Amino acid sequence: MSDLILFWHRRDLRIADNLGLAAARQRSARVIGVFCLDPDILGRDDIAPVRVAYLVGCLQKLKQRYSEAGSQLLILKAAPQEGIPRLAACLSASAVFFNQDVEPYSRDRDRAVAAALREQGVEVHHFWDQLLHPPQTIKTGSGQPYTVYTPFWRNWSRQPKADPCETLAGTQGLTDQEQALARQAGAIELPTAKELGFVWDRDLLVEPGEKAAQEMLENFCDRAITEYAEQRNFPAHPGTSQLSAPLKFGVIGIRTVWAATQVALENTRSDEARAGIQTWQQELAWREFYQHVLYFFPQLAEGPYRDSLKAFPWDNNEAHFQAWCEGKTGYPIVDAAMRQMNATGWMHNRCRMIVASFLTKDLLINWQRGEKYFMQRLIDGDLAANNGGWQWSASSGMDPKPLRIFNPASQAKKFDPDAEYIRRWLPELAGVDTEALVTGKIPVEDCDRSGYPLPIVDHNQRQQEFKQRYQQQKQR
Ligand SMILES: Cc1cc2nc3c(=O)[nH]c(=O)nc-3n(C[C@H](O)[C@H](O)[C@H](O)COP(=O)(O)OP(=O)(O)OC[C@H]3O[C@@H](n4cnc5c(N)ncnc54)[C@H](O)[C@@H]3O)c2cc1C
Repeated sequence: MSDLILFWHRRDLRIADNLGLAAARQRSARVIGVFCLDPDILGRDDIAPVRVAYLVGCLQKLKQRYSEAGSQLLILKAAPQEGIPRLAACLSASAVFFNQDVEPYSRDRDRAVAAALREQGVEVHHFWDQLLHPPQTIKTGSGQPYTVYTPFWRNWSRQPKADPCETLAGTQGLTDQEQALARQAGAIELPTAKELGFVWDRDLLVEPGEKAAQEMLENFCDRAITEYAEQRNFPAHPGTSQLSAPLKFGVIGIRTVWAATQVALENTRSDEARAGIQTWQQELAWREFYQHVLYFFPQLAEGPYRDSLKAFPWDNNEAHFQAWCEGKTGYPIVDAAMRQMNATGWMHNRCRMIVASFLTKDLLINWQRGEKYFMQRLIDGDLAANNGGWQWSASSGMDPKPLRIFNPASQAKKFDPDAEYIRRWLPELAGVDTEALVTGKIPVEDCDRSGYPLPIVDHNQRQQEFKQRYQQQKQR
Protein backbone atom coordinates (compact mmCIF):
# COMPACT_ATOMS: atom_id res chain seq x y z
CA MET A 1 0.00 0.00 0.00
CA SER A 2 1.25 3.49 -0.75
CA ASP A 3 2.05 6.11 1.89
CA LEU A 4 -0.86 7.55 3.84
CA ILE A 5 -0.99 11.33 3.59
CA LEU A 6 -3.24 13.65 5.58
CA PHE A 7 -4.52 16.73 3.85
CA TRP A 8 -5.53 19.33 6.44
CA HIS A 9 -8.38 21.52 5.12
CA ARG A 10 -8.92 24.97 6.62
CA ARG A 11 -10.24 27.61 4.25
CA ASP A 12 -10.07 25.48 1.13
CA LEU A 13 -13.22 23.37 1.41
CA ARG A 14 -13.11 21.75 -2.00
CA ILE A 15 -11.41 18.96 -3.90
CA ALA A 16 -11.26 20.77 -7.28
CA ASP A 17 -8.47 23.22 -8.11
CA ASN A 18 -6.81 22.82 -4.71
CA LEU A 19 -3.04 23.18 -5.02
CA GLY A 20 -2.03 21.46 -1.78
CA LEU A 21 -4.49 18.62 -2.27
CA ALA A 22 -3.41 18.07 -5.88
CA ALA A 23 0.23 17.91 -4.73
CA ALA A 24 -0.69 15.38 -2.02
CA ARG A 25 -2.45 13.23 -4.62
CA GLN A 26 0.59 13.36 -6.89
CA ARG A 27 2.69 12.00 -4.09
CA SER A 28 0.34 9.18 -3.05
CA ALA A 29 -2.96 7.49 -3.90
CA ARG A 30 -3.85 7.41 -0.19
CA VAL A 31 -4.92 10.94 0.67
CA ILE A 32 -7.24 11.37 3.67
CA GLY A 33 -8.80 14.76 4.33
CA VAL A 34 -9.09 16.19 7.83
CA PHE A 35 -10.81 19.29 9.20
CA CYS A 36 -10.41 20.50 12.79
CA LEU A 37 -13.27 22.26 14.52
CA ASP A 38 -10.96 24.46 16.55
CA PRO A 39 -12.37 25.40 19.98
CA ASP A 40 -10.17 28.52 20.00
CA ILE A 41 -11.87 29.81 16.85
CA LEU A 42 -15.40 28.66 17.70
CA GLY A 43 -15.06 30.15 21.18
CA ARG A 44 -14.31 33.68 19.94
CA ASP A 45 -16.92 36.37 20.48
CA ASP A 46 -16.94 37.46 16.84
CA ILE A 47 -18.28 34.33 15.20
CA ALA A 48 -21.46 34.66 13.15
CA PRO A 49 -23.95 31.77 13.43
CA VAL A 50 -24.68 32.13 9.70
CA ARG A 51 -20.99 31.63 8.93
CA VAL A 52 -20.85 28.47 11.03
CA ALA A 53 -24.01 27.19 9.34
CA TYR A 54 -22.42 27.76 5.92
CA LEU A 55 -19.15 26.16 7.07
CA VAL A 56 -20.91 23.04 8.36
CA GLY A 57 -22.93 22.81 5.12
CA CYS A 58 -19.71 23.00 3.12
CA LEU A 59 -18.06 20.31 5.24
CA GLN A 60 -21.05 18.06 4.65
CA LYS A 61 -20.64 18.53 0.91
CA LEU A 62 -16.88 18.05 1.15
CA LYS A 63 -17.41 14.70 2.87
CA GLN A 64 -19.55 13.60 -0.08
CA ARG A 65 -16.89 14.78 -2.54
CA TYR A 66 -14.24 12.74 -0.72
CA SER A 67 -16.35 9.62 -0.78
CA GLU A 68 -17.01 10.11 -4.53
CA ALA A 69 -13.22 10.31 -4.96
CA GLY A 70 -12.78 7.04 -3.04
CA SER A 71 -11.53 8.46 0.25
CA GLN A 72 -12.71 10.11 3.48
CA LEU A 73 -12.85 13.46 5.21
CA LEU A 74 -12.24 13.08 8.94
CA ILE A 75 -13.61 15.62 11.41
CA LEU A 76 -11.81 16.42 14.66
CA LYS A 77 -13.05 18.68 17.42
CA ALA A 78 -9.72 19.63 18.88
CA ALA A 79 -6.98 22.22 18.91
CA PRO A 80 -5.07 21.48 15.68
CA GLN A 81 -1.76 21.68 17.57
CA GLU A 82 -2.80 18.50 19.37
CA GLY A 83 -5.36 16.92 17.06
CA ILE A 84 -3.36 16.84 13.83
CA PRO A 85 -0.13 15.35 15.27
CA ARG A 86 -2.19 12.79 17.26
CA LEU A 87 -4.12 11.69 14.16
CA ALA A 88 -0.93 11.55 12.07
CA ALA A 89 0.69 9.35 14.70
CA CYS A 90 -2.32 7.01 15.04
CA LEU A 91 -2.59 6.50 11.30
CA SER A 92 1.19 6.38 10.75
CA ALA A 93 0.84 9.13 8.16
CA SER A 94 4.09 9.90 6.39
CA ALA A 95 3.21 13.53 5.63
CA VAL A 96 0.70 16.29 6.28
CA PHE A 97 -0.07 18.73 3.45
CA PHE A 98 -1.96 22.03 3.85
CA ASN A 99 -2.48 25.43 2.24
CA GLN A 100 -1.11 28.53 3.94
CA ASP A 101 -3.06 31.49 5.28
CA VAL A 102 -2.32 35.16 5.93
CA GLU A 103 -4.07 35.64 9.29
CA PRO A 104 -1.79 36.09 12.33
CA TYR A 105 -3.60 33.40 14.36
CA SER A 106 -3.38 30.87 11.53
CA ARG A 107 0.30 31.53 10.92
CA ASP A 108 1.19 30.96 14.58
CA ARG A 109 -1.00 27.86 14.70
CA ASP A 110 0.55 26.43 11.54
CA ARG A 111 4.06 26.95 12.84
CA ALA A 112 3.15 25.09 16.04
CA VAL A 113 1.47 22.21 14.18
CA ALA A 114 4.37 21.90 11.73
CA ALA A 115 6.92 21.86 14.56
CA ALA A 116 5.01 19.14 16.45
CA LEU A 117 4.71 17.02 13.29
CA ARG A 118 8.38 17.34 12.38
CA GLU A 119 9.29 16.46 15.93
CA GLN A 120 7.53 13.10 15.47
CA GLY A 121 9.15 12.53 12.08
CA VAL A 122 6.15 13.46 9.89
CA GLU A 123 6.88 15.51 6.78
CA VAL A 124 5.08 18.84 6.38
CA HIS A 125 4.34 20.44 3.00
CA HIS A 126 2.52 23.73 2.52
CA PHE A 127 1.34 25.70 -0.50
CA TRP A 128 -0.16 29.07 -1.38
CA ASP A 129 -3.57 28.22 -2.74
CA GLN A 130 -6.01 30.97 -1.76
CA LEU A 131 -4.21 33.73 -3.67
CA LEU A 132 -3.30 34.02 -7.33
CA HIS A 133 0.00 35.53 -6.19
CA PRO A 134 1.51 34.74 -2.78
CA PRO A 135 2.58 37.73 -0.66
CA GLN A 136 6.32 37.49 -1.32
CA THR A 137 5.84 37.59 -5.08
CA ILE A 138 4.31 41.07 -5.40
CA LYS A 139 6.67 43.78 -4.15
CA THR A 140 7.57 47.33 -5.12
CA GLY A 141 10.68 48.09 -7.21
CA SER A 142 12.65 48.46 -3.99
CA GLY A 143 11.46 45.10 -2.67
CA GLN A 144 8.94 46.48 -0.18
CA PRO A 145 5.35 45.35 0.26
CA TYR A 146 2.76 47.61 -1.36
CA THR A 147 0.68 49.81 0.92
CA VAL A 148 -1.39 51.43 -1.85
CA TYR A 149 -3.81 49.52 -4.06
CA THR A 150 -3.33 51.15 -7.50
CA PRO A 151 0.39 50.37 -7.95
CA PHE A 152 -0.27 46.93 -6.41
CA TRP A 153 -2.95 46.31 -9.04
CA ARG A 154 -0.63 47.43 -11.87
CA ASN A 155 2.03 44.96 -10.82
CA TRP A 156 -0.38 42.16 -9.82
CA SER A 157 -2.42 42.33 -13.03
CA ARG A 158 0.72 42.05 -15.21
CA GLN A 159 1.84 38.76 -13.62
CA PRO A 160 0.93 35.51 -15.40
CA LYS A 161 -1.80 33.58 -13.59
CA ALA A 162 -1.73 29.80 -13.02
CA ASP A 163 -4.40 27.55 -14.54
CA PRO A 164 -6.75 25.55 -12.29
CA CYS A 165 -5.19 22.33 -11.04
CA GLU A 166 -6.52 18.78 -11.03
CA THR A 167 -9.52 17.60 -9.03
CA LEU A 168 -8.84 14.87 -6.47
CA ALA A 169 -9.70 11.44 -7.93
CA GLY A 170 -8.79 7.79 -7.73
CA THR A 171 -7.83 7.81 -4.05
CA GLN A 172 -8.00 5.01 -1.51
CA GLY A 173 -9.59 5.56 1.87
CA LEU A 174 -8.94 4.09 5.30
CA THR A 175 -9.26 0.39 6.10
CA ASP A 176 -11.75 -0.59 8.83
CA GLN A 177 -8.88 -0.96 11.25
CA GLU A 178 -7.56 2.50 10.41
CA GLN A 179 -11.02 3.95 10.83
CA ALA A 180 -11.14 2.56 14.35
CA LEU A 181 -7.72 4.13 15.02
CA ALA A 182 -8.94 7.47 13.65
CA ARG A 183 -11.89 7.34 16.06
CA GLN A 184 -9.48 6.66 18.90
CA ALA A 185 -7.52 9.73 17.79
CA GLY A 186 -10.68 11.83 18.09
CA ALA A 187 -12.43 11.57 14.70
CA ILE A 188 -16.16 12.27 15.12
CA GLU A 189 -19.32 12.56 13.04
CA LEU A 190 -19.80 16.04 11.64
CA PRO A 191 -21.87 18.00 14.20
CA THR A 192 -24.60 20.42 13.16
CA ALA A 193 -24.12 24.15 13.67
CA LYS A 194 -26.63 23.90 16.52
CA GLU A 195 -24.64 21.15 18.20
CA LEU A 196 -21.68 23.49 18.01
CA GLY A 197 -23.74 26.16 19.80
CA PHE A 198 -24.72 28.33 16.82
CA VAL A 199 -28.32 28.79 15.78
CA TRP A 200 -29.15 30.01 12.29
CA ASP A 201 -32.70 29.02 11.47
CA ARG A 202 -33.21 30.94 8.24
CA ASP A 203 -32.31 29.82 4.75
CA LEU A 204 -28.73 30.39 3.70
CA LEU A 205 -28.36 33.05 1.04
CA VAL A 206 -25.61 31.00 -0.56
CA GLU A 207 -25.97 27.25 -1.02
CA PRO A 208 -23.02 25.41 0.58
CA GLY A 209 -20.60 23.26 -1.38
CA GLU A 210 -18.32 23.51 -4.36
CA LYS A 211 -20.85 22.47 -6.99
CA ALA A 212 -23.16 25.31 -5.93
CA ALA A 213 -20.25 27.77 -5.92
CA GLN A 214 -19.23 26.65 -9.41
CA GLU A 215 -22.80 27.20 -10.62
CA MET A 216 -22.87 30.67 -9.05
CA LEU A 217 -19.66 31.54 -10.88
CA GLU A 218 -21.03 30.24 -14.18
CA ASN A 219 -24.32 32.11 -13.78
CA PHE A 220 -22.53 35.33 -12.90
CA CYS A 221 -20.16 35.01 -15.86
CA ASP A 222 -23.05 34.23 -18.25
CA ARG A 223 -25.32 36.90 -16.89
CA ALA A 224 -23.96 39.85 -15.00
CA ILE A 225 -20.19 40.11 -15.28
CA THR A 226 -20.30 42.15 -18.50
CA GLU A 227 -22.54 44.74 -16.85
CA TYR A 228 -20.72 44.70 -13.54
CA ALA A 229 -19.09 48.13 -13.98
CA GLU A 230 -22.52 49.83 -14.26
CA GLN A 231 -24.59 47.59 -12.01
CA ARG A 232 -22.35 46.82 -9.06
CA ASN A 233 -23.29 49.89 -7.03
CA PHE A 234 -27.06 49.45 -6.93
CA PRO A 235 -28.02 47.44 -3.85
CA ALA A 236 -31.57 46.76 -5.04
CA HIS A 237 -30.31 44.72 -8.00
CA PRO A 238 -28.28 41.50 -8.09
CA GLY A 239 -25.39 43.06 -10.02
CA THR A 240 -22.58 41.41 -8.04
CA SER A 241 -21.51 37.78 -7.81
CA GLN A 242 -22.26 37.04 -4.12
CA LEU A 243 -19.23 34.74 -4.24
CA SER A 244 -17.69 36.27 -1.13
CA ALA A 245 -18.59 33.38 1.21
CA PRO A 246 -17.36 30.68 -1.22
CA LEU A 247 -14.17 32.70 -1.69
CA LYS A 248 -13.69 33.21 2.03
CA PHE A 249 -13.95 29.47 2.73
CA GLY A 250 -12.17 28.42 -0.47
CA VAL A 251 -15.24 26.55 -1.70
CA ILE A 252 -14.16 27.63 -5.17
CA GLY A 253 -10.56 27.89 -6.36
CA ILE A 254 -9.26 31.34 -7.17
CA ARG A 255 -7.56 30.02 -10.35
CA THR A 256 -10.94 28.66 -11.49
CA VAL A 257 -12.51 32.05 -10.86
CA TRP A 258 -9.78 33.87 -12.76
CA ALA A 259 -9.96 31.41 -15.68
CA ALA A 260 -13.71 32.09 -15.93
CA THR A 261 -13.03 35.83 -16.25
CA GLN A 262 -10.51 35.15 -19.01
CA VAL A 263 -13.06 33.03 -20.93
CA ALA A 264 -15.60 35.83 -20.50
CA LEU A 265 -13.06 38.31 -21.91
CA GLU A 266 -12.33 36.08 -24.88
CA ASN A 267 -16.03 35.74 -25.62
CA THR A 268 -16.83 39.40 -25.72
CA ARG A 269 -16.45 41.96 -28.48
CA SER A 270 -17.80 45.04 -26.74
CA ASP A 271 -15.62 47.56 -24.91
CA GLU A 272 -18.30 48.06 -22.27
CA ALA A 273 -18.48 44.36 -21.54
CA ARG A 274 -14.68 44.18 -21.31
CA ALA A 275 -14.76 47.07 -18.84
CA GLY A 276 -17.29 45.17 -16.73
CA ILE A 277 -15.14 42.05 -16.62
CA GLN A 278 -11.98 44.01 -15.85
CA THR A 279 -13.71 45.90 -13.05
CA TRP A 280 -14.64 42.58 -11.48
CA GLN A 281 -11.04 41.37 -11.84
CA GLN A 282 -10.01 44.49 -9.92
CA GLU A 283 -12.25 43.42 -7.03
CA LEU A 284 -10.46 40.07 -6.96
CA ALA A 285 -7.24 42.07 -6.73
CA TRP A 286 -8.65 44.08 -3.77
CA ARG A 287 -9.20 40.76 -2.03
CA GLU A 288 -5.56 39.84 -2.63
CA PHE A 289 -4.31 43.32 -1.70
CA TYR A 290 -5.93 43.17 1.73
CA GLN A 291 -4.57 39.67 2.30
CA HIS A 292 -1.06 40.79 1.34
CA VAL A 293 -1.12 43.82 3.64
CA LEU A 294 -2.40 41.73 6.55
CA TYR A 295 0.42 39.26 5.92
CA PHE A 296 3.08 41.98 5.95
CA PHE A 297 1.47 44.22 8.61
CA PRO A 298 -0.22 41.84 11.07
CA GLN A 299 -0.62 44.75 13.50
CA LEU A 300 -3.52 45.91 11.27
CA ALA A 301 -5.67 43.30 13.00
CA GLU A 302 -5.18 45.11 16.32
CA GLY A 303 -6.14 48.66 15.37
CA PRO A 304 -5.50 51.72 13.21
CA TYR A 305 -2.56 51.61 10.82
CA ARG A 306 -2.01 55.35 11.28
CA ASP A 307 -0.42 56.29 14.58
CA SER A 308 -2.22 59.62 14.59
CA LEU A 309 -5.57 57.80 14.85
CA LYS A 310 -4.64 55.48 17.68
CA ALA A 311 -5.90 57.87 20.36
CA PHE A 312 -8.85 59.31 18.41
CA PRO A 313 -11.42 60.81 20.84
CA TRP A 314 -14.44 58.74 19.84
CA ASP A 315 -17.82 59.45 21.45
CA ASN A 316 -18.71 55.74 21.63
CA ASN A 317 -22.30 56.54 22.63
CA GLU A 318 -23.85 53.15 23.53
CA ALA A 319 -27.42 54.08 22.55
CA HIS A 320 -26.19 55.26 19.15
CA PHE A 321 -24.26 52.03 18.66
CA GLN A 322 -27.34 49.94 19.46
CA ALA A 323 -29.45 52.03 17.06
CA TRP A 324 -26.86 51.47 14.31
CA CYS A 325 -26.74 47.70 14.98
CA GLU A 326 -30.51 47.37 14.89
CA GLY A 327 -31.08 49.61 11.86
CA LYS A 328 -32.86 52.31 13.84
CA THR A 329 -30.81 55.45 13.22
CA GLY A 330 -33.50 57.35 11.31
CA TYR A 331 -31.30 57.32 8.17
CA PRO A 332 -33.21 54.98 5.85
CA ILE A 333 -30.32 53.82 3.64
CA VAL A 334 -28.21 53.03 6.71
CA ASP A 335 -31.05 51.21 8.45
CA ALA A 336 -32.04 49.23 5.36
CA ALA A 337 -28.45 48.02 5.00
CA MET A 338 -28.08 47.00 8.63
CA ARG A 339 -31.36 45.13 8.50
CA GLN A 340 -30.26 43.34 5.32
CA MET A 341 -27.15 42.10 7.11
CA ASN A 342 -29.00 41.15 10.30
CA ALA A 343 -31.59 39.19 8.31
CA THR A 344 -29.42 37.49 5.69
CA GLY A 345 -25.78 37.60 6.83
CA TRP A 346 -24.77 39.58 3.73
CA MET A 347 -24.70 43.27 2.85
CA HIS A 348 -24.09 44.94 -0.49
CA ASN A 349 -20.61 46.52 -0.81
CA ARG A 350 -21.94 50.04 -1.46
CA CYS A 351 -23.97 49.77 1.73
CA ARG A 352 -21.01 48.41 3.72
CA MET A 353 -19.19 51.63 2.83
CA ILE A 354 -22.20 53.79 3.70
CA VAL A 355 -22.85 52.23 7.12
CA ALA A 356 -19.14 52.16 8.00
CA SER A 357 -18.80 55.85 7.16
CA PHE A 358 -21.93 56.58 9.17
CA LEU A 359 -20.73 54.72 12.27
CA THR A 360 -17.35 56.43 12.29
CA LYS A 361 -18.00 59.88 10.85
CA ASP A 362 -21.59 60.58 11.90
CA LEU A 363 -21.82 58.67 15.16
CA LEU A 364 -18.13 59.05 16.03
CA ILE A 365 -17.95 55.48 17.23
CA ASN A 366 -14.68 53.57 17.10
CA TRP A 367 -14.64 51.61 13.82
CA GLN A 368 -13.34 48.52 15.63
CA ARG A 369 -16.78 48.11 17.19
CA GLY A 370 -18.30 48.07 13.71
CA GLU A 371 -15.61 45.71 12.49
CA LYS A 372 -16.50 43.26 15.26
CA TYR A 373 -20.25 43.61 14.73
CA PHE A 374 -19.76 42.80 11.03
CA MET A 375 -17.77 39.69 11.97
CA GLN A 376 -20.61 38.65 14.29
CA ARG A 377 -23.12 38.88 11.45
CA LEU A 378 -21.52 38.26 8.04
CA ILE A 379 -21.57 34.95 6.17
CA ASP A 380 -18.40 36.12 4.38
CA GLY A 381 -16.79 37.69 7.50
CA ASP A 382 -13.09 37.65 6.77
CA LEU A 383 -10.37 39.33 8.81
CA ALA A 384 -8.36 40.74 5.89
CA ALA A 385 -11.27 42.06 3.80
CA ASN A 386 -13.29 43.28 6.75
CA ASN A 387 -10.40 45.02 8.47
CA GLY A 388 -9.32 46.50 5.14
CA GLY A 389 -12.83 47.80 4.45
CA TRP A 390 -13.16 49.29 7.92
CA GLN A 391 -9.75 50.94 7.98
CA TRP A 392 -10.50 52.39 4.51
CA SER A 393 -13.86 53.71 5.67
CA ALA A 394 -12.51 55.11 8.94
CA SER A 395 -9.56 56.80 7.17
CA SER A 396 -7.23 55.00 9.56
CA GLY A 397 -5.66 52.70 6.98
CA MET A 398 -2.95 52.91 4.38
CA ASP A 399 -4.85 54.76 1.70
CA PRO A 400 -3.30 58.19 1.02
CA LYS A 401 -6.65 59.92 0.48
CA PRO A 402 -7.53 60.31 4.12
CA LEU A 403 -10.91 61.82 4.56
CA ARG A 404 -13.91 60.21 2.95
CA ILE A 405 -17.27 61.13 4.40
CA PHE A 406 -20.34 59.64 2.78
CA ASN A 407 -23.51 61.69 2.82
CA PRO A 408 -26.30 59.11 3.31
CA ALA A 409 -28.81 61.17 1.34
CA SER A 410 -26.55 61.67 -1.70
CA GLN A 411 -25.61 58.01 -1.63
CA ALA A 412 -29.25 56.92 -1.53
CA LYS A 413 -30.20 59.37 -4.30
CA LYS A 414 -27.48 58.07 -6.55
CA PHE A 415 -27.57 54.36 -5.82
CA ASP A 416 -31.16 53.69 -4.73
CA PRO A 417 -32.97 56.42 -6.66
CA ASP A 418 -36.40 54.72 -6.54
CA ALA A 419 -35.94 53.71 -2.87
CA GLU A 420 -36.51 50.10 -3.93
CA TYR A 421 -33.85 48.78 -1.57
CA ILE A 422 -34.97 51.02 1.28
CA ARG A 423 -38.61 49.90 0.94
CA ARG A 424 -37.57 46.24 0.81
CA TRP A 425 -35.81 46.39 4.17
CA LEU A 426 -37.94 49.03 5.91
CA PRO A 427 -41.45 47.71 5.23
CA GLU A 428 -42.92 50.08 7.82
CA LEU A 429 -42.04 52.92 5.43
CA ALA A 430 -43.57 51.31 2.34
CA GLY A 431 -46.15 54.08 1.93
CA VAL A 432 -43.73 57.00 2.28
CA ASP A 433 -42.83 58.83 -0.93
CA THR A 434 -39.53 58.17 -2.67
CA GLU A 435 -38.04 61.65 -2.22
CA ALA A 436 -38.52 61.48 1.56
CA LEU A 437 -37.01 57.99 1.69
CA VAL A 438 -33.87 58.82 -0.24
CA THR A 439 -33.25 62.20 1.40
CA GLY A 440 -34.07 60.74 4.81
CA LYS A 441 -36.54 63.52 5.53
CA ILE A 442 -39.37 61.30 6.71
CA PRO A 443 -42.39 63.38 7.81
CA VAL A 444 -42.88 63.30 11.59
CA GLU A 445 -46.42 61.90 11.21
CA ASP A 446 -45.03 58.94 9.20
CA CYS A 447 -42.48 58.32 11.94
CA ASP A 448 -45.24 58.47 14.58
CA ARG A 449 -47.46 56.14 12.58
CA SER A 450 -44.81 53.55 11.75
CA GLY A 451 -42.61 53.74 14.84
CA TYR A 452 -39.65 54.60 12.58
CA PRO A 453 -37.19 56.85 14.50
CA LEU A 454 -36.34 60.44 13.69
CA PRO A 455 -32.65 60.89 12.77
CA ILE A 456 -30.54 60.29 15.88
CA VAL A 457 -27.87 62.80 14.79
CA ASP A 458 -27.52 65.66 12.30
CA HIS A 459 -25.23 64.62 9.44
CA ASN A 460 -23.86 68.11 8.67
CA GLN A 461 -23.10 68.91 12.26
CA ARG A 462 -21.47 65.58 12.94
CA GLN A 463 -19.24 65.58 9.88
CA GLN A 464 -17.90 69.01 10.91
CA GLU A 465 -17.23 67.63 14.36
CA PHE A 466 -15.42 64.64 12.92
CA LYS A 467 -13.27 66.80 10.63
CA GLN A 468 -12.27 69.02 13.52
CA ARG A 469 -11.23 66.13 15.73
CA TYR A 470 -9.46 64.49 12.81
CA GLN A 471 -7.38 67.59 12.07
CA GLN A 472 -6.48 67.92 15.76
CA GLN A 473 -5.30 64.32 15.85
CA LYS A 474 -3.20 64.75 12.73
CA GLN A 475 -1.41 67.73 14.27
CA ARG A 476 -0.51 65.92 17.48
C1 LIG B 1 -16.62 47.96 5.85
C2 LIG B 1 -16.45 46.81 4.90
C3 LIG B 1 -16.37 45.51 5.39
C4 LIG B 1 -16.20 44.42 4.51
N1 LIG B 1 -16.12 43.16 5.03
C5 LIG B 1 -15.89 42.10 4.20
C6 LIG B 1 -15.76 40.78 4.71
O1 LIG B 1 -15.79 40.54 5.91
N2 LIG B 1 -15.57 39.77 3.81
C7 LIG B 1 -15.50 39.99 2.47
O2 LIG B 1 -15.33 39.02 1.69
N3 LIG B 1 -15.59 41.23 1.97
C8 LIG B 1 -15.79 42.28 2.77
N4 LIG B 1 -15.92 43.55 2.25
C9 LIG B 1 -15.71 43.74 0.80
C10 LIG B 1 -16.97 43.65 -0.05
O3 LIG B 1 -17.98 44.45 0.48
C11 LIG B 1 -17.50 42.23 -0.23
O4 LIG B 1 -16.44 41.37 -0.63
C12 LIG B 1 -18.58 42.17 -1.29
O5 LIG B 1 -19.64 43.01 -0.96
C13 LIG B 1 -19.07 40.74 -1.44
O6 LIG B 1 -20.09 40.69 -2.39
P1 LIG B 1 -19.86 39.94 -3.77
O7 LIG B 1 -19.29 38.60 -3.53
O8 LIG B 1 -21.14 40.02 -4.52
O9 LIG B 1 -18.75 40.85 -4.43
P2 LIG B 1 -18.35 41.12 -5.94
O10 LIG B 1 -18.59 42.55 -6.21
O11 LIG B 1 -18.93 40.13 -6.87
O12 LIG B 1 -16.76 40.93 -5.91
C14 LIG B 1 -16.12 39.66 -6.17
C15 LIG B 1 -15.24 39.26 -5.03
O13 LIG B 1 -14.16 40.17 -4.88
C16 LIG B 1 -13.83 40.31 -3.50
N5 LIG B 1 -14.03 41.71 -3.12
C17 LIG B 1 -14.88 42.60 -3.67
N6 LIG B 1 -14.74 43.81 -3.11
C18 LIG B 1 -13.78 43.68 -2.18
C19 LIG B 1 -13.18 44.57 -1.25
N7 LIG B 1 -13.52 45.86 -1.19
N8 LIG B 1 -12.25 44.09 -0.41
C20 LIG B 1 -11.86 42.80 -0.46
N9 LIG B 1 -12.39 41.91 -1.33
C21 LIG B 1 -13.33 42.34 -2.16
C22 LIG B 1 -14.77 39.40 -2.72
O14 LIG B 1 -14.12 38.18 -2.51
C23 LIG B 1 -15.93 39.26 -3.69
O15 LIG B 1 -16.67 38.09 -3.50
C24 LIG B 1 -16.10 44.66 3.11
C25 LIG B 1 -16.20 45.97 2.63
C26 LIG B 1 -16.37 47.03 3.51
C27 LIG B 1 -16.47 48.41 2.95
